[in-house]
Amino acid sequence: MTFVVDCMLGKAAKWLKILGFDVLFFSKAEDDDLLAVARRDGRTLLTRDRALAARAKGVTCLLIESEVWEDQIRQVLGRFDLFAAARPFSRCVECNAAIKPLSRENAANLVAPFVLEQGRDFALCPVCGRVFWQGTHYEDMESRVAVLLK
Ligand SMILES: [Zn+2]
Repeated sequence: MTFVVDCMLGKAAKWLKILGFDVLFFSKAEDDDLLAVARRDGRTLLTRDRALAARAKGVTCLLIESEVWEDQIRQVLGRFDLFAAARPFSRCVECNAAIKPLSRENAANLVAPFVLEQGRDFALCPVCGRVFWQGTHYEDMESRVAVLLK
């Protein structure tokens, strides 16, 4: 299942990507554009805007109830039964592409020496070239992910 998310749901969009879901987010987009993208790509529209949800004919749409991003994510996962579908840390949070494993050898050319020393499980975004790794703040994110998927 893939998503397009309205401007009010930026934090939820980011964390859905961290959970591995394919999410398009635009910091600025007209309602008609969101609907057009949802229709064109068969994406599920997530919105906090009741009026927009009412206009989402022919589009799968979920009206997000909470203002709290953790609850927003739980609503999405619960509504579409996606808890088991999550693949945390498999997607670039910047450009939404699936990231590819990167050997330590190849990572050596792309990251600072201290990162290479401390990081593990390197991965590369094929679109923006950003390198991801499990490092110091990873455990905090991992525990947040565990709470979201509980
Ligand atoms: Zn990227």
